[in-house]
Amino acid sequence: MKTIPHWINGTYAPIGERTADVTNPATGVVTGAVSLASVDESNAAVAAAAAAFPAWRDTSLARRTQILFAFRELLNARRPELAAIVTAEHGKVLDDALGEITRGQEVVEFACGMPHLLKGAYTENASTNVDVHSKRQSLGPVAIISPFNFPAMVPMWFFPIAIAAGNTVVVKPSEKDPSALNWVAELWKEAGLPDGVFNVLHGDKVAVDALLTHPDIKAVSFVGSTPIAQYVYRTGTAHGKRVQALGGAKNHMVVLPDADLDLAADAAVNAGFGSAGERCMAISALVAVGDIADGLVERIASRTSTLRVGDGVRGCDMGPLVTAAHRDKVAGYIDAGEAAGATIVVDGRGVTADADANGFFLGPTLFDHVTPDMSIYTDEIFGPVLAVIRVDTYDEALTLINSNEFGNGTAIFTNDGGAARRFENEVEVGMVGINVPVPVPMAYYSFGGWKNSLFGDSHAHGMEGVNFYTRGKVVTSRWQEPSHGGINLGFPQNS
Ligand code: NAD
Repeated sequence: MKTIPHWINGTYAPIGERTADVTNPATGVVTGAVSLASVDESNAAVAAAAAAFPAWRDTSLARRTQILFAFRELLNARRPELAAIVTAEHGKVLDDALGEITRGQEVVEFACGMPHLLKGAYTENASTNVDVHSKRQSLGPVAIISPFNFPAMVPMWFFPIAIAAGNTVVVKPSEKDPSALNWVAELWKEAGLPDGVFNVLHGDKVAVDALLTHPDIKAVSFVGSTPIAQYVYRTGTAHGKRVQALGGAKNHMVVLPDADLDLAADAAVNAGFGSAGERCMAISALVAVGDIADGLVERIASRTSTLRVGDGVRGCDMGPLVTAAHRDKVAGYIDAGEAAGATIVVDGRGVTADADANGFFLGPTLFDHVTPDMSIYTDEIFGPVLAVIRVDTYDEALTLINSNEFGNGTAIFTNDGGAARRFENEVEVGMVGINVPVPVPMAYYSFGGWKNSLFGDSHAHGMEGVNFYTRGKVVTSRWQEPSHGGINLGFPQNS
């Protein structure tokens, strides 16, 4: 069994006193023990980041960018290794793991353009002999706290931009699948990143609290469940940090009566059951408008029953859930949905998986006639459970979405451009797909939801990411002949 230590100041720290088991969800076998940081170990990671900051901040943009490009090349060449690590600890199928690395790599590529992104404005002769320019400067050590469901991609939404902008980083990955970031740390070293710029601190609440309250941490990027996101936002901001905290989701896909039902059914299956529904952009509520519901449910059911569930390395469509406890929790929601009177069209309980008998498997599950009071609708299940809600009108569908506490992603399927345009304007959700079920923005746009899906006012990556990891400064300068302008105690006015 391997040990998974912290990576601090360019090397592995001794394994800590407290550890947690890391399990391969496809086999149920414990494969590693990850360190759970103490306050002292957390402080050591922050100290390494703080010590590395002045030199990294002053490293030329040209040099910083060269290291980013080198990291991009190494990642691109060796991504199958990282995908294998993700699959072994998360469970998602290998193709899907490669997909998340691709989306993370796109942020690295965006960050390679940092010299352009950091350019400020310049005004010559704003007042006589007075010039004004603006610049954006790095913050210092920043913390990134990430969830289990994208162990490679979610941290990569943040650290390429933070590092390229001249900050140093402490990443606290999920303790359920921690190995991916140690691999990433070694890759940074190979790319030429100086020690201490990128640190990986493993752990639980102890590590998170130590980062949230440490005076040297200047900013916190968090992704995880809504209650913890809210806690992180409150605690981090109370300690004077800027915080962006992305939370949970319940994403609706609306299908209007004029939609192509085969396209919509394909999309619902892909977005509902991809990564076993453990995606913050998964579709978990399908809102069928008008009289199409029977035909749509039939199409989704026939596709769902062909999905192959199994070990992610065996070429299946869907892997296991991340832990036995999570599998049981999701199965409990299926029991509750059935007891509440929803029609179970495809039942994933008791699935036969192409895998070892001890994996944490649950098959894709489709419910019809779900009503908004049922827990399978109200709660974020984070598993392969798709709930169909039948409504009569577009307005009912919109009201359902806008009254939901979450606002991460949503999609509408229609051939009516006017209806799609109206939906795009009226829906209270941060990321909208039109005939696209999982509308994850490209790296040069920003990712983030509304309402209880995000606390703070800054989304991830794109220009919002650049602004989050930098602070603005405006310089007003005067060079004149003769150099002494005389005494004037009045507030400066333009002349
Ligand atoms: P989680 O909230 O349990 O854990 C997220 C991080 O917080 C982990 O690093 C964990 O160690 C830490 N943590 C857990 N409990 C804590 C506590 N009490 N105090 C301090 N830190 C704590 O989330 P998860 O189960 O790892 O991930 C799934 C959740 O993440 C889902 O709700 C999903 O919707 C959400 N998510 C959201 C997005 C988004 O962009 N909005 C993206 C991915 C995942």
